Parts: sequence; C-alpha cells; structure tokens
Amino acid sequence: MSALEQMMRPDLRDMAAYGSARTEGGGFKPSIALDANESPWPPFGPLAAASESHRYPEPQPVALRQRLAAFYGIAPGQLLLGRGSDEGIDLLLRLFCRAGEDEIIVCPPTFGMYKVYAAVQGAKVVAVPLRTADWQLDMPAIGAACKTETKLIFIPSPNAPMGHAMRRDDIFALCRDRAGKSLIVVDEAYVEFSDEPEGFLAALALHPNLVILRTLSKAHALAGERIGAVIGQPDLIQAVQKIQAPYPLTQSSIRVALDALSPNGLLQSAERRRVLAAERTRMATLLPQSPFIARVFPSVANFLLVEARDGATLMQELRRHGILARDRGGDIPNTVRLSLGTPEENNVVLQALGVTLSTENTGRMPRLHSLRRATKETKIDVTVNLDAPDFLAIETGIGFFDHMLSQLAAHGGFGLALACKGDLEVDQHHTIEDCALALGEALKAALGDKRGIQRFGFTAPLDESVAQAVIDLSGRPHASFEGAFPVPMAGEMSVEMVPHFFASLASSLGAAIHVSVKGDNTHHMIEASFKATGRALRQALRREGDALPSTKGVL
Ligand SMILES: *Cc1c(COP(=O)(O)O)cnc(C)c1O
Repeated sequence: MSALEQMMRPDLRDMAAYGSARTEGGGFKPSIALDANESPWPPFGPLAAASESHRYPEPQPVALRQRLAAFYGIAPGQLLLGRGSDEGIDLLLRLFCRAGEDEIIVCPPTFGMYKVYAAVQGAKVVAVPLRTADWQLDMPAIGAACKTETKLIFIPSPNAPMGHAMRRDDIFALCRDRAGKSLIVVDEAYVEFSDEPEGFLAALALHPNLVILRTLSKAHALAGERIGAVIGQPDLIQAVQKIQAPYPLTQSSIRVALDALSPNGLLQSAERRRVLAAERTRMATLLPQSPFIARVFPSVANFLLVEARDGATLMQELRRHGILARDRGGDIPNTVRLSLGTPEENNVVLQALGVTLSTENTGRMPRLHSLRRATKETKIDVTVNLDAPDFLAIETGIGFFDHMLSQLAAHGGFGLALACKGDLEVDQHHTIEDCALALGEALKAALGDKRGIQRFGFTAPLDESVAQAVIDLSGRPHASFEGAFPVPMAGEMSVEMVPHFFASLASSLGAAIHVSVKGDNTHHMIEASFKATGRALRQALRREGDALPSTKGVL
C-alpha cells in the first residue's frame, strides 16, 4: 500500500470514480451529442448561448488546467480544479478524515473554513496557537500535538488575518517530521501579492506530503466565479478527483477564467498587483497617523490588519463614511482587517480616519487599460500603461509593423502589449487598421478624464530622414500625412498603410495627428514617422497635477 493510501480513509481506497457521460466519451467529439440528456437548445439570454450553457462542462477543462499549470510552472496532472480553494479544503477533509476518529491541526489566528469543514466531516480540530511574539508556528507544540490520527495540518501563508508569510524552514521541518503520516496543507490564497509569488510550488518535488491550495479569487480577480486548485502529487490529485462532484466548474466560469489567464489577462492582473503592493506600503505608512489606529501588522498580502485604539469605534467611524471593513476582534482584540482598494478608494479611507493627504502621499491609479477588440477579420487584445513603460510585447503577424509599434510605445514612454490574430491570408489592411483602432481606443480609455495631461506634443527628430509630428489630444479626430515613399514596400509591410495607420489611430484616440516625413530610404522614413509620433505622444500624455488643459473646461 502506498503512503498516500495508508493516510486516506480506508473505505475510500478502492472506491471507483463515478463515470460521467463526458468522462466516458473518452475525448470523442460528436457532431450530435445525445449522451447526457441535455437540452439541444441553449436557454434564454445571449450570455448563456455564447457559453454553451445547455451542455455539461468538461469535468476538468483541459485548456484551463493547462493554462493554470503553466502559470504555476507545474504539470497539469499535479493540479485539480474546483469550486474555489474552499472546495479543496472540504475534499481533503473528506478523503483523509474518518468521522469521530481522525484529527486536523490548525494554528489560530487562522482562516475560519478549516474548522467548519472539519466539523461537517466530524473530524476533531486541534488548535495550536501561533506564538504571539512573532505570529509564527509553535513548532514544539505542534510536534507534541501530532498523533497517528493527525491527518492534515492547515497553514495559510501568507497568513490570514495578519497577512505575513510563515517561515519556510518551519514548514519544511513539518513536512519531514510528518512524512508518510500527515499532509501539510499550505494555503497560498494571497501568495501572488508577496515578493515570493512562487511560494512552495518548487518544494513539491522534495516533499510528497506537501499539498498547496491556490485560488483565482484574489490575485486573478475571480472571486465571483469560484475557481481554485488543489496542487500536489499526481496520485493525490487522482484520489481527490474521485470524490469530487462530476462537473465542478460552470461553462461560463471556465470561459471567464480562460480570458483572465490569457497573456493579456495575466499582464493586466500583474500590473494591478503592482499597484496594490505600492498601496500596501503607502497605507501601512500612513494609517498609523490616524488617531483611531495604534499599529498596522506587517503584511505581504492584499489586506492590512490594523490594531485600533478601540475596534468598535474604528468600525463605526469607517461605516459612517460608507466603508465596510472586517472586525477581527475575535482573533486579536481591537483588530480590523482592511482589504486594499483602488488608490482612490484608499485615499477615502485615509481621509475618513483623519490622515492629512498631500500631493506626495495621495494615491493615484496608473493610467492602465486592457481591452479586446474582435471582428470577423481580426481579434486583438491590447494593454497600455501610460505611467509605466516597463512592458513591451507586440505580435501582429507582420514583423515590420511590430517593429514600428514598438518604436511608437518605446518613444511614447508607455507600456504596450498587443496581440492580433488577423486575416493576413487576405492582406494586411484589416490587421494594420484594426490594430491602430484598438490602440487608439485603449490609449483613450487609459487617459480617462485627461486631468493633468499636457495635451500637446511636437517633435522633429533628425536622422538621415526627417519626420515631424504634431499631436493634440483634443478629443476631435483629425489626421494628415505628408511624405512620398520611394518604394511601395518596407519589409513585408505595404507603405500605403502608413498614412492609414495614423488616420485610424487619430480617429479612435480622438486626437489631431499631423505627420510629415522627408528622406530617401523608405524603411528609415517610416521608422522616423513612428518615432516622431511616439515622442510627440510622450509629451502630450505626460501628467502633472490634475488640471484640465482646456479653457473650455472639457476635453
Ligand atoms: C479567501 C481565502 C480562501 C478562499 O478562496 P476561494 O478560492 O474563494 O474559496 C482560502 N484561504 C484563505 C486563507 C483565504 O483568505
């Protein structure tokens, strides 16, 4: 018998998994599916029709499992998808704990669901509190509490509700001490917000009794879709899947998650996590200036636990300003847990608590925007960050055009990721035009209310070609292009598309763009046009203060 079988409930060792219609189909893709007593028609509503809501979903959606495994850097067989990591906690308890006989260890203050699912399963909960000096594991006390019946030890890291990381060496020591006897379940719901986002994944290879819980609820902004994962050895994953309900994820949640885990989705969530990390530092610095707050617990998560002078008064004061926080006085007296919001929301919290904001310490969202533009001819995902030029990933299928877009972003001083799948088998027209439209739309959305921008830009960089660009982010589209290219093609790009690119960009961005170029090498002339436009954009996009740069008061 394997170590795993020895640990799990004897009555479940030989249980056969339920064979659902979709698992028994063996991957056969029918043209007419009459195997699952589904409705042949979708229900009312466009969302349901687009999601194939009338069909049972894949039990473990292959594409989603692959994408998530790639993100974690593990094999798909090491990961089981389920309804949030909450379902993972429940399944582990049911698989390993016999009612009235087996036990789990939790280390309070800790996440509340471990003991709820233990109670449902009839498992005994042994609480070994964290050391109050540093809120780390009390290793000797855990060692003393372990028995043959101790099947699971639950450790959230970053911890909830304080938000600090648990010492890695303690967890490794526990894995070694309990090898073949208990599973050490590290709940990494918040690890992506920390500066060690890989967490314990690499340790899976060393410790067969290590299990990791991950969730898409927090770092991937999918709390409403209910998706999480149990990560461990393939034999454990197979055993857990045997007792899982046959179709844990809905068709619509699978679709939403695939988008969130697309390259563009991952980039957007990574950019937003950077904003939250900066906000965590700002809030941790400023909150102690509030007369309501005594101290802030160190956190590497997307929330801060604060100790109030009086917990109830702090909750009341926040409520008076329409802000709801979570009272954690039951865990540690007078503590309140505040999730980090947008910089603007956090400003409201600080002001509500009597912290004076100045121009230096006021939080401001970077001008970040992601969008998808899909037509019959092209499908484009684009992300821009006007305040951080630190990403550049462009793939349109036209090498020379990719190069020009990189010039535009690099000289424009903004981050740009743009992926386009277009009908290049027809010609380049749709791809170039639609990329320009999508880029203009994203820049416009990222500009938001345009407060503080310079609005105008003018440049004339000198190379062996001379290009001039003038930009006004006025809201009124207008474009002109002057210049005659000596040859009709530059690389694989047709030069007649160059003026058309700037015209399309001007129309969706709502800008006046005038470009003129002189020279005798087509490649250099086009490059100079994109560079000059980028430089002009850089000036126009720059934000200082928050006045509207218009005498009319609107832009
Ligand atoms: C939020 C949270 C979870 C639950 O995640 P879901 O995937 O939404 O079920 C698990 N563990 C901890 C510590 C959490 O804070």
